[in-house]
Amino acid sequence: MSSTRRTFVMQVIGVGATLAAVQRTAQAAPKVNEADPQAQALGYRADTAKVDAKKYPKHDNAQKCAGCQLFQGKAGDAAGGCPIFAGKEVAANGWCSSWVKKAG
Ligand code: SF4
Repeated sequence: MSSTRRTFVMQVIGVGATLAAVQRTAQAAPKVNEADPQAQALGYRADTAKVDAKKYPKHDNAQKCAGCQLFQGKAGDAAGGCPIFAGKEVAANGWCSSWVKKAG
């Protein structure tokens, strides 16, 4: 293998490793912690069935992050982003008091 070709191969391997690291980072977005002050203020629960019914009487177990207008995950994803909790992921089965029915 020529020196130029070896350098090119090493660069390709380096780029591949960097992309893999970026993908790992993207997949490793932390989950919203129910104990976080913002999560508590919005009544967020990772399981919609565990929402405080007394505090949120309009909540319905059929309301889930996956069916919320603000959910950024794809259909079938277990979790996804939400602009209310920037940089973190909410559970597809979660809920918070900012829930808005997804259009369509
Ligand atoms: S705004 Fe919607 S997607 Fe975000 S946490 Fe609340 S219910 Fe879930």
